[in-house]
Amino acid sequence: MNARSNLSICHDCDLLQREPAEPSGAVVKCVRCGAVLYRCNPGNRERTLALTLAAAVLFLIANAFPIVGIETQGQHNASTLLGAVLTLWRDHDGLVALLVLVTTVLAPATEIAMMIAVLAARRPSIRLLRWLPAIRPWAMIEVFVLGLLVSIQKLSHLAILIPGVALWSFIGLMLLLAAKSATFNARDVWQSVSLSEPRRT
Ligand SMILES: [Zn+2]
Repeated sequence: MNARSNLSICHDCDLLQREPAEPSGAVVKCVRCGAVLYRCNPGNRERTLALTLAAAVLFLIANAFPIVGIETQGQHNASTLLGAVLTLWRDHDGLVALLVLVTTVLAPATEIAMMIAVLAARRPSIRLLRWLPAIRPWAMIEVFVLGLLVSIQKLSHLAILIPGVALWSFIGLMLLLAAKSATFNARDVWQSVSLSEPRRT
């Protein structure tokens, strides 16, 4: 047999089974319990890469420009996310500053960079693929955006708030990251790793 035998394990009943030669758009189910093993969507990898590259651009804009301008008693203040982290650090809220930095800057940046490296490479790094699921829970852009919108709503009674470019960028980034997670299929990437590995005899 020239074709390599791919095996899948069912996440519901742990049955190890040989993958069928599936047509495009098919949904492959476990032969024992009927759980969905994977969906065959050609072009998924390219779509996820496009979404991730767009997310990278929005991430840079979101961190380069002020999130919201505040006008109160004739004074105007505006800060970027990193500026807010620095202010928190100076105000001795070191733990909060560190949490904001990790969950809204470092973890999303690392996840986006790793995703691009994995999706764009012809032979993705197995180490990166293994680290991706560990990094993802630390990226909390959606929690940050939610907190931001609640804060803006509460502060709107006390001062004039002017939404900045970064606010819209963070909202767009949140949507792009959600779309990226929905289209990403780790199985496609693992398959390209196994296909590019030299066959042992
Ligand atoms: Zn099963």
